[in-house]
Amino acid sequence: MTTISSDLQYGKIKVKHFIQLILIVNGGTQGSRVNNNMKIAIAGFGALGARLGVMLQAGGHEVTGIDGWPAHIAAINTKGLTVVKDNDAPQKYFVPVMPASEVTGTFDLIILLTKTPQLDRMLTDIQPIITDTTKLLVLSNGLGNIEVMAKHVSRHQILAGVTLWTSSLIKPGEIHVTGSGSIKLQAIGDADVQSIADALNQAGLNAEITPDVMTAIWHKAGINAVLNPLSVLLNANIAEFGTAGNAMDLALNILDEMKQVGASQGIKVDVSGIMTDLSQLLKPENAGNHFPSMYQDIQNGKHTEIDFLNGYFAKIGHESGIPTPFNALVTRLIHAKEDIERVKLAKQQENFEI
Ligand code: NAD
Repeated sequence: MTTISSDLQYGKIKVKHFIQLILIVNGGTQGSRVNNNMKIAIAGFGALGARLGVMLQAGGHEVTGIDGWPAHIAAINTKGLTVVKDNDAPQKYFVPVMPASEVTGTFDLIILLTKTPQLDRMLTDIQPIITDTTKLLVLSNGLGNIEVMAKHVSRHQILAGVTLWTSSLIKPGEIHVTGSGSIKLQAIGDADVQSIADALNQAGLNAEITPDVMTAIWHKAGINAVLNPLSVLLNANIAEFGTAGNAMDLALNILDEMKQVGASQGIKVDVSGIMTDLSQLLKPENAGNHFPSMYQDIQNGKHTEIDFLNGYFAKIGHESGIPTPFNALVTRLIHAKEDIERVKLAKQQENFEI
């Protein structure tokens, strides 16, 4: 492996800056090198932000991670980010990571990768480093992200995307990754989306410009709106959910309501396409033996993205006079589960402290 290193000062933090020219996290593809190096911030350097961050750095970009989790920041800045891919030996990557308050300078591109409920707060926190020429690309799952971004920046700065890259955060400073992925993106206003797609592809991120990113975002939201809450409510991984005799009926209950809500927003939801993708995902050899991220969020006592999936359909349905009883119930049950697990965790913590 070829590694270039130098000392760089980022805000209050001085770190070794390594550019590793052979990368294990990119699923084996190294983008062709063109002279399109950018200053890129990853706002939300969690599981997925960290994976994309090291890929972008290895692709020649100057990358800064923005995150607010002290243990994670400390682990990465002292020992490097540990990336475990499949059965390979763990690799270390050194990307500077710091809270928003310590970031200085400006960026060509900020990639937003918080959980969706955290997006508004993140955009408030990074306001000082956003200039008129900064482009912001949101890759978080769920619906409503563009509306949140439009409260903070002008439309000509906004790009929306959807990604099939995946990653799991195992502990502070360590992610586990598998396989490869892709990104579909579109400028919401008149931003130069081609230069952003080129920069992503320079890092092997398999980015494709689409004329209709909203359809792709709703498609993925449909898959998540079925698998995420139902795995929590049924306490089942994806393959186990598929063994339920009425699994596909439950999926259709959610998706038929989503289709009507989508139509009211000018979005054509391809329910049969989502059902086809779901039946593939339910196979154990695909995503089957995994628990969706909402399951892990519940176990960790965190807020889930439910209000930006099923809750979004229920809210728009309510406002538009479209009945959404299944999505409304699923949303309320997940909020109840969030409360139950948070109280349980707090009690465990109290007992631990005694
Ligand atoms: P994550 O929770 O691991 O990462 C989010 C990070 O943002 C956390 O480290 C958190 O500390 C940080 N953060 C949030 N608000 C902040 C703030 N105001 N200031 C500083 N730091 C802040 O989540 P993730 O799994 O990386 O997912 C991010 C988004 O991408 C989600 O919308 C998720 O649904 C989507 N997504 C994830 C995957 C995946 O495989 N992990 C795949 C596709 C899409």
